[in-house]
Amino acid sequence: MSHRRPLTVPAVFVLGAGASAVVAQRTVLTANLLDTALTDASAVRELPPADRRRIQHFLEFLSGQWKGVSLLDVLSIVDVATAQNLPLSPDWGTARLARVKRSIQRAIYVCIEESVGPIRMPEAPSRDLAAVLNAIALPGAPLPVIVSLNWDCLIEHAYIAAWSGRMDVIDYGVASVTAMGERTPRADRALVVLKPHGSLSWGYCSLCSLLVSDLTVPSQFWSGRGCPRCSVALSAVLVPPVGRLRGMPPFFDGLWARVEQAIEDSDRLVFIGYSLPSQDVHVRVHVVRALARRALRRRSPMRVEVVTNERAASSGTDVLLERRFRDVVGGHVPASHLHFCHDGFETWCGRQG
Ligand SMILES: [Zn+2]
Repeated sequence: MSHRRPLTVPAVFVLGAGASAVVAQRTVLTANLLDTALTDASAVRELPPADRRRIQHFLEFLSGQWKGVSLLDVLSIVDVATAQNLPLSPDWGTARLARVKRSIQRAIYVCIEESVGPIRMPEAPSRDLAAVLNAIALPGAPLPVIVSLNWDCLIEHAYIAAWSGRMDVIDYGVASVTAMGERTPRADRALVVLKPHGSLSWGYCSLCSLLVSDLTVPSQFWSGRGCPRCSVALSAVLVPPVGRLRGMPPFFDGLWARVEQAIEDSDRLVFIGYSLPSQDVHVRVHVVRALARRALRRRSPMRVEVVTNERAASSGTDVLLERRFRDVVGGHVPASHLHFCHDGFETWCGRQG
């Protein structure tokens, strides 16, 4: 499945949790993140006891116990209840739920930082990260567009490190300011990294709609850090993969439009470490729309590649995953253009170029 045809338009790479797992020092999947936050020694050391107790009490209220509860289930309940002002019980009003949400955000930050290394600038890119970039940015091809569904900032840091620490080489596709309130610098040929599930590096001001995005300082958006313009506390921007939520910053509509446009303009769409889970409604809807719009322009069929590590997983999951992708894109992508590699990212990298 080597791709040797010269590309004239940017390829689009959609990175799921499996892409981070490739380069993470230790894998903390979102599914087991709460267990890690509450039991792992290093996470427990970093997460203040008040946050840990708050999360445990809420999990006990919700599930009768606090082990093995899915982060995405918990976060989506807390998000909807706080955004729509719906208390969950006499004890769990929306103000208390908002505190739970902040504690969970802090736990996410602590766990991802512990597992993938500092969310700030790393000392040097790891070899694994270099392999990711080399595979993604084929020589002679235009810079790809990255759509990262992960909250971590691994790909940004790897790219910045490859450019000797220049911070202007990343274009998040949204207007943003630095921690000092100045416009985030952006080079002409910056790598476009679209993050429609939000980012640990983003803080949003609900008063002046400012997005603070600064990879040079610790984010800590759970701690009441103020907006550089109006000093209202910034909110973390972490979107759980559920149906449309109220209270999301309005720039997400524009971000999804950028994702659609990138796919519509492209000839090659590569999913890495992404299993198209059924709760991820947005990804499905926007991919289908982009492929349909592309078909209207009568372009040659899109080449779609899906890279997973399913071979190592329990038997049969690769068949189910292929079925999910065919169900969603099969109407616009002929079978001859839909390629699966279940042998992992490194094997796939070896077949490139
Ligand atoms: Zn503000």
